[in-house]
Amino acid sequence: MKCSSCRTGTLNPSYLEGLFACHTCTDCAGNLIILSDFLRWQAQNPETDLTVNAGVEIEAQETSKAMICPKTGGLMTKYKISADTEHRLDLSPTINAIWLDKGEWALLKSKGLAHKLNTIFTNHWQHEIRDNEASEVLSALYQRKFGDRYDEVKQLRASLLSMENRSEVIAYLLADDPYEI
Ligand SMILES: [Zn+2]
Repeated sequence: MKCSSCRTGTLNPSYLEGLFACHTCTDCAGNLIILSDFLRWQAQNPETDLTVNAGVEIEAQETSKAMICPKTGGLMTKYKISADTEHRLDLSPTINAIWLDKGEWALLKSKGLAHKLNTIFTNHWQHEIRDNEASEVLSALYQRKFGDRYDEVKQLRASLLSMENRSEVIAYLLADDPYEI
């Protein structure tokens, strides 16, 4: 099978880090994983340590171009891994095959997502990423607005929200002179 990512290499049967069956490219070291192979392995080995050793530098490649599934020849769909990275995984939707560029497995491990490989492609997960991105955008906005005192403002808000009579407290705080009748 020809590699559709680098277009020069060949995808040969192998094992991803000796764990589960996949195809690895002879040239770009990308991996094609059939999701069911991963899930079968995962069910049998739920306790396998999939963390990266501290100090290991992670250099994952990212291809922004649309990827063609080497198996079906169809277009693959890109899914974001998490809100704090631009990395996306490609999924061939008809056969549930995943393309991992070189280093992306290490990246998944570093984010604690290697055991959750299948959940990345669910709607729930993708929604959560978008929600996180939205709150990060707003947080940055407030940070600019409130500057150094943003933490103080957050504490004040939390403290107000914990009060049952908070609307009265807010009225008291905003009154020009709360002691004037
Ligand atoms: Zn390749």
